[in-house]
Amino acid sequence: MLAPEQHALLDELYWNTNQTVTSLCTQFGLTAAQVSKLITPLPAGFDCWWCQQPMSYRKRSERNDARRAFRHLTCSCGAEQPEGVDHPGLVDSDAAIVAPLFESRERDSWYRGQRHTAKVGPMSDVVRHGVKAMAEVGLRWTGAFVVVEAFDSLDGVAHRLQGLPTRTLVVPALTDLMRNEGDSLALFFRLVAGGWRVISAAPSLLSHHEYDGWCDDLVDRWSPMAQSGSRSSRLHLV
Ligand SMILES: [Zn+2]
Repeated sequence: MLAPEQHALLDELYWNTNQTVTSLCTQFGLTAAQVSKLITPLPAGFDCWWCQQPMSYRKRSERNDARRAFRHLTCSCGAEQPEGVDHPGLVDSDAAIVAPLFESRERDSWYRGQRHTAKVGPMSDVVRHGVKAMAEVGLRWTGAFVVVEAFDSLDGVAHRLQGLPTRTLVVPALTDLMRNEGDSLALFFRLVAGGWRVISAAPSLLSHHEYDGWCDDLVDRWSPMAQSGSRSSRLHLV
C-alpha cells in the first residue's frame, strides 16, 4: 500500500511527532483504519513477565498511558505489565514474587500443560502489587515469578521454597501463604526465623496521609473505642 520509504516516514511521524492521525491520513492518502493497521509497533524495551515475548506499543495512547501512574500495558497473552520497574534509584533484587497455588498441579494440569492459556488476570495483580511493594522499600524486581503449591503441609511448602535461588520473597499477603491464616503465619515465622526476608504486597489499610509511622501513634486514636466497651476493647496496641 505504501512504498518502504513512505512506510518508514509514516512510522517516524506517528511515533516521533505530534502530527495528528487526521493530518497523516491526508498526507499519505489513507483512512484512519489503514494508518492504524500500517503503523509498526514500537518496542517498549522490556519483555512480558509471563510469556517472555518482547513488549511493544501498538498505538500512541498505549505508550502515553504506560508512562502515567496507575496505567499499565497489557501483553497480547493477556498479562498486565507492572508499572514502576524503571523507576530511578531502585536497587536490583533477585526477590521472587510468589503466587501460592492452593491446588495440586497433579490434579490441576493448567500450570504445566497449558501455561499459555492460563488465566493470568489475578496473577497480574499479584505481580503488579508485588513490584510496587518492592519499589516502596527501594528494590527493583528483576523478573522472578514463581507459582508455589501451598495446599498441603508446612514442611512441604517450606521445602519447595528452599529450592528457590533467592532468600527474599514477595507474597500477596502474610495470611494468604497457605490455605488458612494459622498455617500461613507459621510459615511466615519459620521463613523469617530462617533468615528470609518476606515482603507483603497487601495494600495497607491505612494510607500514608493517615498513618506513616510507628504503631504507638495510633494508641490515642484507638483508646476511646476500647473505653466504650465495644468489641474493639480486645484489641490492645502496644
Ligand atoms: Zn505476554
